[in-house]
Amino acid sequence: MLSNDQPVKLDEQALEYVDSCNLPTTWATFRMHAFVETATGKEHIALTLGDVADGQPVLARIHSECLTGDALFSKRCDCGPQLELALQKIAQEGRGALLYLRQEGRGIGLLNKVRAYHLQDEGADTVEANQKLGFAADLRDYSLCDPMLKHLGIESVRLMTNNPRKISAMEGMNVRVQEHVPLIVKRNPYNERYLSTKATKLGHLIQPDL
Ligand SMILES: [Zn+2]
Repeated sequence: MLSNDQPVKLDEQALEYVDSCNLPTTWATFRMHAFVETATGKEHIALTLGDVADGQPVLARIHSECLTGDALFSKRCDCGPQLELALQKIAQEGRGALLYLRQEGRGIGLLNKVRAYHLQDEGADTVEANQKLGFAADLRDYSLCDPMLKHLGIESVRLMTNNPRKISAMEGMNVRVQEHVPLIVKRNPYNERYLSTKATKLGHLIQPDL
């Protein structure tokens, strides 16, 4: 991989690779790889551990940004614990990858997420709130995963997710989903309804009443 050079255009210029560095964390020292989306200027990162380009299936998580859950300890969703568990599992194996995609609030952005949470405070569920604001229930786009994974040399993944939409999106790409690894985290009184709605309305593979 290049460093201190011009960004490398990937996948017919949809995504550019910029640089990589070490990222020590509580669980392991990952390699952090930086990318920029050509069309939007959005910045995305991938964390890898070990040799992910050896052709063997890679334990992988595709994680969409959730500022409130990932960084602010919100209990309204399960994003923070899922992120933590995914990194722990990768560290335990000593090998894996986490793609961190900057598509906050299932793609509606941070400010609209605050508006959606306001509607949820008043009784709407997560899908109804997005729809009241004029958005689809889920606007996330996983197409950038393909050039990112290709750049990292990853040919097949053992994908950590509970979301069948993510699995089918990945199946349309060059990378092969070898296995689906559930990522179940604890519920709390604040995310109970959110997780149940994800199961019943968005088809997530989690039991509504666990
Ligand atoms: Zn979240």
